Amino acid sequence: MIDFHCHLDLYPNPVDIAEEARRRNIGVLSVTTTPSAWRGTSNLALGNPAIRTALGLHPQLASERIHEMPLFKDLLPETDFVGEVGLDGSPENQGTRHDQQIVFRDILRACDQAGGRVISVHSRNAASAVMDQLERHLRTGTAILHWFSGNKTELRRAIARDCWFSVGPSMLVGAKGQSLVSAMPRNRVLLESDGPFTAQKGRSLAPWDAALAIDGISRAWNIPPEEVVSLVQSNERSVLRTI
Ligand code: MN
Repeated sequence: MIDFHCHLDLYPNPVDIAEEARRRNIGVLSVTTTPSAWRGTSNLALGNPAIRTALGLHPQLASERIHEMPLFKDLLPETDFVGEVGLDGSPENQGTRHDQQIVFRDILRACDQAGGRVISVHSRNAASAVMDQLERHLRTGTAILHWFSGNKTELRRAIARDCWFSVGPSMLVGAKGQSLVSAMPRNRVLLESDGPFTAQKGRSLAPWDAALAIDGISRAWNIPPEEVVSLVQSNERSVLRTI
């Protein structure tokens, strides 16, 4: 099993988490929030090919770190994975909308020119704006919408754009998330923890906790959990074949 969106470098004890993931045979898409964090974070994956380190510039940091875009472009040839990138339209991030758009657009262009990447995309309160950009960059690679929380129209656009979805336990807590998951194509769903920023029962989720989403997906799709596991595993293989 692979946790397709985890901030490994932001746990207080990232080396222990990486080691425990290896012991449990869990793969990790280890996303970063700034280009300057990529090198150090990829060192956490040394000797463990099941940890893949994505090069990111989080929308909430896009304005403050826009000067790191040249570094992003320098590092891009070193990895097949990009994230966390995207747009955030929450009220507290309205002031940086313009810079967020420039950074996201330049990242998609760079991925396009580099021959495509697997990209973990943030779209909170900005699903339509994210889809506008993704529809303009069709050769950008495989976009995985992480913790998608748009409406049904935005979901239909994402499906038509051939986006993937990484779904975590936190997304399945409410009725809206469950209803979105029930409408997602079964051959486009992956798991995620989004740790350490998500918690259950007061404890930060770890990569292996991405599996806690399986029961919720099983209810949303009305199929047994074992069938969800085999679909997700087959999806993990397909998405990795795109690079
Ligand atoms: Mn995240």
